[in-house]
Amino acid sequence: MNPVRLRSSLVLLLIALASTCSLSQPDDSTQKLSRDIFKQLIEINTTDSVGNVTAAAEAMAARLHAAGFPATDIQIIGPNDRKKNLVARLHGAGKKKPVLLIGHLDVVEAKRSDWTTNPFQFVEQNGYFYGRGTQDMKGADAILVTTMIRFKKEDYQPGRDIILALTADEEGGKSNGVDWLVKNHRDLVDAEFVLNPDGGGVQLENGKPVMMEMDATEKLYSDYQLKATNPGGHSSLPVLDNAIYHIADALAKLERYRFPFELNDVTRAYFAQMSKTETGQKAADMKAISSTPPDEQAIARLSDDPLDNSLMHTTCVATRLDGGHANNALPQTARANVNCRILPGHSIEETRQTLLKIVDDSKVTVSSVGSDGEVQSESSPRKSFPPPPLLPQVMNPLERVTHEMWPGMPVVPAMATGASDGVYTSPAGMPTFGISGLAIDVNDVRAHGKDERLPVKSFYDGVEFYYKFLKAVASE
Ligand SMILES: [Zn+2]
Repeated sequence: MNPVRLRSSLVLLLIALASTCSLSQPDDSTQKLSRDIFKQLIEINTTDSVGNVTAAAEAMAARLHAAGFPATDIQIIGPNDRKKNLVARLHGAGKKKPVLLIGHLDVVEAKRSDWTTNPFQFVEQNGYFYGRGTQDMKGADAILVTTMIRFKKEDYQPGRDIILALTADEEGGKSNGVDWLVKNHRDLVDAEFVLNPDGGGVQLENGKPVMMEMDATEKLYSDYQLKATNPGGHSSLPVLDNAIYHIADALAKLERYRFPFELNDVTRAYFAQMSKTETGQKAADMKAISSTPPDEQAIARLSDDPLDNSLMHTTCVATRLDGGHANNALPQTARANVNCRILPGHSIEETRQTLLKIVDDSKVTVSSVGSDGEVQSESSPRKSFPPPPLLPQVMNPLERVTHEMWPGMPVVPAMATGASDGVYTSPAGMPTFGISGLAIDVNDVRAHGKDERLPVKSFYDGVEFYYKFLKAVASE
């Protein structure tokens, strides 16, 4: 899930007015259905350590089957017994290629002793649903399953097939379900485009909805190891050639370096939209960075904001450090981990080459660290995909339904600075959009954290949003 944030006072004002209108919420039986599914998902532990994704996939398959989906349209498949994925299909008129919905069933670990409530028990309290996965992303999974069931029960025939894939190992683990499905069962998940409610969503500020963020692209995650080695020796006889100093120097150079400024179609649209809701210098700077050539001072000022900075640059930052083996010995080894978030269009290896140039020290090696922790001298040529065009068959329904449910609230295309399962579907030629109707307050982002929770109202609004939005998409 992409860390939420917002700004704007002007929009707030507009929205304060808009939010006094009550949203249409689903009827009682739909509310009960969605809540039951949500509860069931929260109470099936799907952590990598002791959980079981297959159990959650099977529970959802049973619900779809009971609602009238034939067994031939429901698959439970995966590389091993604990990490099976659900793929279900609602047949359409076949006018266009299908739309694929993806949602991960796995959740981040949660310790009972850290939490106020049991993280694997669904608790409703003071207007919130509590439990591991309420924000990331079992609330959205429950909404997708509810929507499929509603469509089936009302005999709705979409213009195109709607495929639902609920999958394993987005948060970690070795059996990423989206990757596995794309590689092994492309026929089952092949689609014109993908909707992923793990990204985007309605941003609240102090309870007021401010914008509908839509993630249209994302940065690429990569780790590197900087390492210096040395014969060492007695610390009473220091020499200049010291492994720790080499690493310290390298990191000081990294600290001063800024990767080149770069906008893409999505971030350009984002800053253009935000410049309308910002005021003063900030608004002017957001406009000035899009001029040719871009205004260097505007870039510098915006770069002081961590999010704006991250949207304009590849970032690399030191995150771990270790070295030496005794207080009274010269260090034989020193190491640092550097974590990079790479802009679309650039590769992991290209970024390693840049780090080598920044460090500029033959005593310091720069290696790639894989997701399994393995250190390799060369990196993968993998690139984050350039942003897909903002498809009208996605954007038009999104604008329409957003304005219907939250009058006056802008839809803002954005680049996620984190990562999602879109890294598997986008490179496979299926443009992927992070779209969610769930509203979370900017000060209440608890994904991966303690006492994760989702406002009850937000959940039911989200149920209604996806029903309307998906119907609009599938009817186009
Ligand atoms: Zn997630």
